Amino acid sequence: MYEKEKQDIINAALALKEYRLIALSGGNVSIRKPAEGHILVTPSGMMYETMVPDDVVVIEPTGAVVEGTRRVSVDTEAILYIYKHMPEVHSVIHTHQVYATAVGLVEDVLPAAVTTLPNATLGPVTVAPYSSAASLEMGIHTVKYINHKRAVILKNHGVITVGGNLKEALYAAVYLEDAAKTYIAAKSIGNPALLDEEQVKVAVQKFEEYGQEKKAKE
Ligand SMILES: [Zn+2]
Repeated sequence: MYEKEKQDIINAALALKEYRLIALSGGNVSIRKPAEGHILVTPSGMMYETMVPDDVVVIEPTGAVVEGTRRVSVDTEAILYIYKHMPEVHSVIHTHQVYATAVGLVEDVLPAAVTTLPNATLGPVTVAPYSSAASLEMGIHTVKYINHKRAVILKNHGVITVGGNLKEALYAAVYLEDAAKTYIAAKSIGNPALLDEEQVKVAVQKFEEYGQEKKAKE
């Protein structure tokens, strides 16, 4: 079941690898099928480049396996918590991307200094307190600190991005990393100029009209 969705998940993971947001078997990618309530999640400890659709596991919101023989991602408890408490979210991505995580070691928020950040994350990205791998706290902190945006930085750990679909969560992760790089580069030579609230609002609105004509269901 869900052959296309499973391949989409693998393709997203490979894109994350290409942009150097994940390495080896780190992080995870998942989606929720709204009608059925099923969650599709990448397996634990497998390299993305050798992953095939059958490796992606289909589970119930309780964690019970519907289809698949692989062990689910170690972060599945946290992922299920996010889906349960954020009904508008249908995709969750977790990475250990270097630059956004680095910002989280120093700052409490990554401010919106470039338009691509609010385009993809809907605004500045908050740094949540530390939570370890494979902990429920990752999920609890995401829900608590994401603040209606599409990304949160987990201090001393990594990043969680969310979206109404896989593409939104993927874009949030990629553009968050670019924004973090630009911010760090600017900080190294001075005090970065930030977008004001109105400019952030416009950046969010503009991106809603971006790209090709939207299909009924993406
Ligand atoms: Zn992690």
